[in-house]
Amino acid sequence: MKCPHCESKLSFSLLRKSIRRPQPCPSCDEGFTVTLSMSRMFLLIIPVAMSLFMIRPISLHWGIPPNLFSVLLIVLYVLSCATLIKRPVR
Ligand SMILES: [Zn+2]
Repeated sequence: MKCPHCESKLSFSLLRKSIRRPQPCPSCDEGFTVTLSMSRMFLLIIPVAMSLFMIRPISLHWGIPPNLFSVLLIVLYVLSCATLIKRPVR
């Protein structure tokens, strides 16, 4: 993901740290934090719920545990809802 101030790429460990508290960007020194975009969650909930519903018979047909698919789908859902916002570092 990119810094909301200067568009420079941010490392994964920095993004992970910013979940707990705002982190300064290494190139512009402005603070940012990872959050979940409510509007994106709202937009994606219907396709995700539908895929969860449809993936069950497909995974049973393939002989793969449906829970494995469900977890993967939910992880992807949360990741795609994550967004960076500007937040001063304290
Ligand atoms: Zn920056």
